[in-house]
Amino acid sequence: MSTRAPGPRAERLQAVKGMVDLLPPDSRRLVEIERVCHDLLGRYGYALVETPTVEYTPLFARSIGEETDIVEKEMYTFEDRDGRSLTLRPEGTAGVVRAYNEHAIHGIEPVTLWYYLGPMFRHERGQRGRYRQFHQLGVEALGVAEPGIDAEMMAMLLALLAQLGLARDAMELHINTLGCSVCRPSFRAALLRFLEPHEPELCEDCQRRFRQNPLRVLDCKEEGCRRIAGEAPTTLDHLCPACRTHWEGLLGDLGTLEVPCEVDHRLVRGLDYYNRTTFELLCTAGSLGAQNTLAGGGRYDGLVELLGGPPTPAVGFAMGLERLLLALGDLPPLAPRAEVCLVTQGAEARRLALPLARELRARGVRADVDHRGTSLKSQMKRADRLGCAIVLLLGESEVTRGVVGLRRMATSEQEEIPLAEVVGRAVERLRR
Ligand code: AMP
Repeated sequence: MSTRAPGPRAERLQAVKGMVDLLPPDSRRLVEIERVCHDLLGRYGYALVETPTVEYTPLFARSIGEETDIVEKEMYTFEDRDGRSLTLRPEGTAGVVRAYNEHAIHGIEPVTLWYYLGPMFRHERGQRGRYRQFHQLGVEALGVAEPGIDAEMMAMLLALLAQLGLARDAMELHINTLGCSVCRPSFRAALLRFLEPHEPELCEDCQRRFRQNPLRVLDCKEEGCRRIAGEAPTTLDHLCPACRTHWEGLLGDLGTLEVPCEVDHRLVRGLDYYNRTTFELLCTAGSLGAQNTLAGGGRYDGLVELLGGPPTPAVGFAMGLERLLLALGDLPPLAPRAEVCLVTQGAEARRLALPLARELRARGVRADVDHRGTSLKSQMKRADRLGCAIVLLLGESEVTRGVVGLRRMATSEQEEIPLAEVVGRAVERLRR
């Protein structure tokens, strides 16, 4: 007999701060959400792209903007073993545009409709709905300048959320326009003139960067800055004729598609590459709390060129999937973990049960076998917990007689079926 004294307990290791484990049932909901995304986006003609999770750092600095929160303080940047600076992607558009240019997609597909699903990384202050690793669905349409695609994209976002079960009245779509490189300078100058006398009231970050990037003040979350932003001049007063036409076209198409929305002049979004249309979807459902922006996006007509490609208009949005899970709560309802549970007593019963389960699964049924050899009572309890509709019972007496007890959980009715027929019968009962 060993007399070794038990050692000290190993230290329990923890996930990286701000990063969360996605466990069942949330992980199952995520799979269901992704299925709905693939289905609905496919109907709009979008195709899935997967770009790497890490990119060379200058891609983000150049596209997102040096004076943004993300680039200034939130990126996970490190040196590769060969000394090049890499960054875990903080958002998806930069990588998508890099790939679009690298593979010269503009020459292959003048209208490119892409979407992606995957993890993003930002070193932010953790709180409910704000994590350091989170998942986004991102949708990007490249090659179309007309506002019809912006409107259709917003309608698609609302349709997606409705299909997932979110109530219409729990969603608020906010839209704005930022103008373009022609009209932005006059808006920027007007905003600077307005902000200068307010400088002492701005937060530290805004005081530091408002001269280079006055638009940042408009989406600063600090109370003082928000108050000042509420009185700031709006882009609408400075739009050039082309931007005004685009904006009016957008409002017209949103009307045609009956997309309810509110104009919000402070909506400039935290990334530098946006121009013209910006939009955000706020949600009051579930347990989202303060972080209630589910999705955000807009036009980035200059980004493809900025990253070395040909001039290409583009529009897109990203939605946080963890926030979507919080908003959905118990929606969408999940299918039971098992439709049929095989409950067995003794080694011979388990030997018979294994091929039955295999056959059921081959016929598309979710089937479960309890391998632990616990009592019939505890196996029945587990079957109930898994939410199955049918239990196939193989006790000692059933084994001797070559039959299986088929029990319908909803009614507790039980019948005896010959072993060879039981799979067919169970499938028939389930699909009825
Ligand atoms: P953004 O890329 O900042 O425009 O964010 C788009 C969406 O991604 C937001 O509306 C959120 O739903 C989600 N998101 C952004 N940052 C986080 C985060 N730190 N944690 C969880 N979700 C996030």
